[in-house]
Parts: sequence; C-alpha cells; structure tokens
Amino acid sequence: MSYFELPKSRRERCPFSDNVAGRVTERGTRCAVVAETELTLTFVAPRRQHHGRLLVISKRHVPTLLDLTDREAAAIMRDTRRAALAVTKAFKPDGLTIYQNNGVGAGHEIPHVHMHVVPRYHDDDGAIPRKGPVIAYEERAEVAARIKQFVT
Ligand SMILES: [Zn+2]
Repeated sequence: MSYFELPKSRRERCPFSDNVAGRVTERGTRCAVVAETELTLTFVAPRRQHHGRLLVISKRHVPTLLDLTDREAAAIMRDTRRAALAVTKAFKPDGLTIYQNNGVGAGHEIPHVHMHVVPRYHDDDGAIPRKGPVIAYEERAEVAARIKQFVT
C-alpha cells in the first residue's frame, strides 16, 4: 500500500536496487559510489546536472520516505549531511539544495526513496538543474573519487 500514486517504470528491475546489489542497471549504467553504510548508499547522480550532484538512497527498496523505519530515516539524514559536507569541501559550490520527492504528484521518478544533494552555483540562475544525458561512468568515478576524500 502506498499513500501516493507511484511512478510506473518500463524497466523490469529497479535501477537503485541494482546499484545496491553492485549490478549494472538494465540500461547499462554503472554506479559511481561515494559512500556506503549499513543502511544507505551514496553515489554520483548518473545524469548530467551540476557537477557533484549526489543521490543518497536507502539500501532497502521502499518507494517513499513514509515507508522508511525511523532508523533508516535517521541514517539517510545523517548520510545526506555527510554527503553535503563532502561535496561542499570538494567542489566549493555557492550553495546546496537538498530535496526528496514522494509520489508522481511531487515529480517522483524512480520509486526507491532517494535524497537529492545538489551543489548550486550563482550561474544556475536560481533553477535546480533537471535531467540530462547520462554521464560516462569514468567521469562520474572521477567525481566520486574527489568527493570521497572528504567523506567522514
Ligand atoms: Zn529499488
């Protein structure tokens, strides 16, 4: 049961669950991991947005924040803060936007709970950069390596 209409995927497998399992996704995307804990995985967002954009997900496949246990919710917030700190040290953005969508009505696209950590820059004119083409794994791995140096 879900509180909201969830996005329908044409994929057979959940790409974020593939990331957790260390598998390449159905669409051939490899995950550039920044940090992993017992309950969460943090990785470079695969589509080109602002440099250093990260996703922090629960390891357990649940669609929305409302489906998390208190322990998972606390771990996601802790690891989102750690990711935010690391990306700020690595890329020195002008600001950060952190958000999380629940349900189609909120723009939710992949039904596996995830926090967006978005470095912001004066030249983005106040708009949160949206989807772009998938960034090559090698480039994302470089971004991940740069951020990893600052993960505590
Ligand atoms: Zn999943």
